[in-house]
Amino acid sequence: MLELLEQQRIPIWSHERKNNDPIVFGGGAVLTANPEPFAPFLDVVLMGDGEEVLPKFIEIIQETKNEEKYFRLKELAKIPGIYIPSFYKPIYNSDGQLLSIKTIENDIPKSVSKQTWNGNLTHSQVITPDAVWPNIHMVEVVRSCPEMCRFCLASYLTLPFRYPSVTNELIPAIEKGLKVTKRLGLLGASVTQHPEFPDLIQWLNEDCLQEIRLSISSVRASTVNPELTKVLKKHGSKSITIALESGSERLRNVINKKLSTEEIFTAAKNAKEGGLKHLKLYGMVGIPTESEEDVEETADLLLKIKQKTPGLRLTLGVSTFIPKAQTPFQWNGVQTDAQKRLKILNKRLKPKGIELRAESYRLSLIQALISRSDRRLARVIALLRGTENSLGEWKKAYKTISEEENTSLTTLKSTLAPLPRWEEVIHENWQAEKVLPWTHLQGPVDESLLIKHQKRSIT
Ligand code: SF4
Repeated sequence: MLELLEQQRIPIWSHERKNNDPIVFGGGAVLTANPEPFAPFLDVVLMGDGEEVLPKFIEIIQETKNEEKYFRLKELAKIPGIYIPSFYKPIYNSDGQLLSIKTIENDIPKSVSKQTWNGNLTHSQVITPDAVWPNIHMVEVVRSCPEMCRFCLASYLTLPFRYPSVTNELIPAIEKGLKVTKRLGLLGASVTQHPEFPDLIQWLNEDCLQEIRLSISSVRASTVNPELTKVLKKHGSKSITIALESGSERLRNVINKKLSTEEIFTAAKNAKEGGLKHLKLYGMVGIPTESEEDVEETADLLLKIKQKTPGLRLTLGVSTFIPKAQTPFQWNGVQTDAQKRLKILNKRLKPKGIELRAESYRLSLIQALISRSDRRLARVIALLRGTENSLGEWKKAYKTISEEENTSLTTLKSTLAPLPRWEEVIHENWQAEKVLPWTHLQGPVDESLLIKHQKRSIT
């Protein structure tokens, strides 16, 4: 983003952009959960569903096009879901602990709430071979997920769960795209959660639709039934993806994954019997309270699936748990043992012919830093321009900015706050009383409820 701004000769810092510069705005899941690391670069953040916030944003931008930047931002700040970072000032103590976030003027809203769209869900408007997914007609089947696994941003940040009627909305939306392509993608955090999903599968099973190539995102293991796998096979799919997170039933309870070991075996059996060749599973290491035994249980489970469904190719994609803002696990740090646990899985599964795709632990640490930092991280991000963005470069930039601040602090103690310790942001568990960098931003679930969900999981 910063490089794009520089290429256009637009100042990267919001406070350096004047009346004649464009208003730079952002939105989407990352910025809605915690925009603070990017706050000093952005004039405006749109929080929540674009369908809801964008039309009002565009209207004000057009109406005020001849006004000064400050006036335009003041007008935008009146719209629910529009966050103007420069109108909020973090207050720190001398140790750099965040004490509160205050508005710079009394008529600015004390908090900004994420907005929710309750109209029709979306589908591809342009189908082209030049798209990231070429020639696919994408149709959104559900938005959010009602399962509320406690680490899951895709669920907690986007609640409530919404879905269109299969007959009145989904099928007409699909038919529109099928006039120009034979490739169909069903989108959503967990598409099989749609209460009428069996009806959609039945419709897709009709002979006149035989030529369609169908792709779906990951599905809940308990919904992988013979009808689904047969329809997927009929439409050219060779694989299906389910998320188990952990082989340990205890840990699945900790994260609120309502999934039994038996259901996982049945999903594998149905995948094989339906004619699919490949089962992809998602797992995670470093889940709060996880021990080495839990990770061994994940390996045991994969080996048992292999034994029970010979011939079915298995791939385990593993990520490291990262605390996400606006979820019950936002207070839990990244476990330093996570890297070792990825190695345990590798050692046990690879020799048995189970493919392991592990997400880089080093990249996960950068994600955790961005996930839980406040706006002091912006100077580090700015310093990283032109680098490869490796963990080593992040650490170096973090150190450089920390040292610069420590020097300037001797003369400017009252106005600058030191960067928090790297370990504190990434690895440490935070107390529920800690003032969070996103304390002034309201997601769909109240903080008190998030705390309740967190306590229920860990005790
Ligand atoms: S089932 Fe998947 S999408 Fe739904 S809450 Fe759990 S992890 Fe998130």
